[in-house]
Amino acid sequence: MNISRRDLLKFAGLSAAAAAVTGCTAATGATPGAQGAVGKMLGKHQVVIIGGGFGGLTVAKELKKIDPKFDVAIIEKNDSFMSCPFSNCNLGGIKGVSLSTLTHDYSQAVEKNGYGMLTAVVTGIDRANKVVYTSKGSVGYDILVLAPGIDYNYKGQFPTWSDAKIAKARRAAPAALVPGGEHVALDRMVKNMEDGDVVITVPAGKYRCPPAPFERASMIANFMKNEGLKGKVIILNETAEVAKGAAFKETWKELYPDVVVHQDNCKIVDVDFDKKEITYVQTVFANKEDTEGVKTTKTLPYGIFNFIPHNMSNPVIEMSGVATTPDGFKKVKMATSPEKPVSFQTATDASVYAVGDVVGHAIPPSGQSAIWSGKECAKEVAHVLHGKSYSVASALPYKSANVCYSMVNGNPEEAIMVNHEFMVAGPVIGSKGSVPKGDEANNKFRSSGLAKATHDWYKGAMRDLFN
Ligand SMILES: Cc1cc2nc3c(=O)[nH]c(=O)nc-3n(C[C@H](O)[C@H](O)[C@H](O)COP(=O)(O)OP(=O)(O)OC[C@H]3O[C@@H](n4cnc5c(N)ncnc54)[C@H](O)[C@@H]3O)c2cc1C
Repeated sequence: MNISRRDLLKFAGLSAAAAAVTGCTAATGATPGAQGAVGKMLGKHQVVIIGGGFGGLTVAKELKKIDPKFDVAIIEKNDSFMSCPFSNCNLGGIKGVSLSTLTHDYSQAVEKNGYGMLTAVVTGIDRANKVVYTSKGSVGYDILVLAPGIDYNYKGQFPTWSDAKIAKARRAAPAALVPGGEHVALDRMVKNMEDGDVVITVPAGKYRCPPAPFERASMIANFMKNEGLKGKVIILNETAEVAKGAAFKETWKELYPDVVVHQDNCKIVDVDFDKKEITYVQTVFANKEDTEGVKTTKTLPYGIFNFIPHNMSNPVIEMSGVATTPDGFKKVKMATSPEKPVSFQTATDASVYAVGDVVGHAIPPSGQSAIWSGKECAKEVAHVLHGKSYSVASALPYKSANVCYSMVNGNPEEAIMVNHEFMVAGPVIGSKGSVPKGDEANNKFRSSGLAKATHDWYKGAMRDLFN
């Protein structure tokens, strides 16, 4: 599909005059990229951001707040935004929460904040010529911000699975860890469920929002309890780690003792999506010194399967060719220097920055971290555009940089939380988390006050991104 520069401005909500003021320059005949993308050039911007999620929207808004003259454009593949945070509340049947609570249109954010937005899929990046190739043409940049979030690594986890089997996994057992239709599919499955077991897997390695699978288990258990459905919510955890572990375990024991079953060290071997059966190997270790353990192969039938595979950086990172860590996730390596020990600039290219779940900092991959990082990244980029210098280290240590709530009960509404302080930790930003007791009087992690805070956090985050 061909798209004209006028179409880009329409997406952007900018008039041609405003475009001139903000410094957009149209060009034609850009060199096609390695991906064989079309040569039609949609325009060039001072800052181009790939991804209109928690990180990307924050960078764009903050840049325009710092200097309305900055020419900023986001490239986002979806034409509307669907929030992963709060999606478990929808599955749990929390009063007043529905799929529409999670869905937001981009037009208000574009109108209010004055940045541009192109709805297109990024297909290639040519850093030498500072061009991003998309499904609708190419876009030039002075500074590029990578904020594409995560992808699933089915291929790495199951090298023998065919593309057809992976496609079946996506359809029949949606992971629902990225924005979009998977949340709609999982919602349909849960809301139409009958008696039977729900299985949720927790992957090894870095993955998006470590408490999310455990919050989801609690919320589906809450839904089953309220609907009088018989069955269990079985968590097959590839490791023994449980984010906010003490708080979740206290809740499961007290509220869902016969429903939530958490199994440690379970490696998924295969899934028969037609028979609805999971084969996995569970390792039981005798003690901390036991590194081998005893392995048992087990087969588990399921009614609903929320199959969360290994996570990795979105392929946009590989397209950009910036250096990444050698682990399966492939985090972006971040720049470090004596003047700026920590940064959102990539280690590879001074014109390319990264925010959100892909960053190589030791901070939790959360929406709140992405918002905090987006604000800091915008300050760094703004200083560069103004010919000045800014070090993120000057903002650190930062208390409560990441506050993350998990709803665990719907009747009455109760939630738990974790609070992270960020600090300089060698060449990266590090973090230290604590899980406070929400109900000190009764010595419990969960409380109704934290449930109210969960609602307030979500409203505040959406205000931050869209108003
Ligand atoms: C169930 C669940 C619950 C969660 N709860 C919380 C919570 O309570 N609190 C919290 O802080 N965090 C929570 N999170 C985590 C949070 O959603 C992520 O950490 C956050 O979205 C990361 O922001 P990001 O900008 O890196 O990625 P995203 O928000 O995913 O944004 C990336 C964007 O890039 C776009 N994109 C990708 N590829 C391309 C391409 N090729 N071309 C164009 N566009 C592209 C995507 O469509 C997407 O819009 C939760 C996550 C899940 C799954």
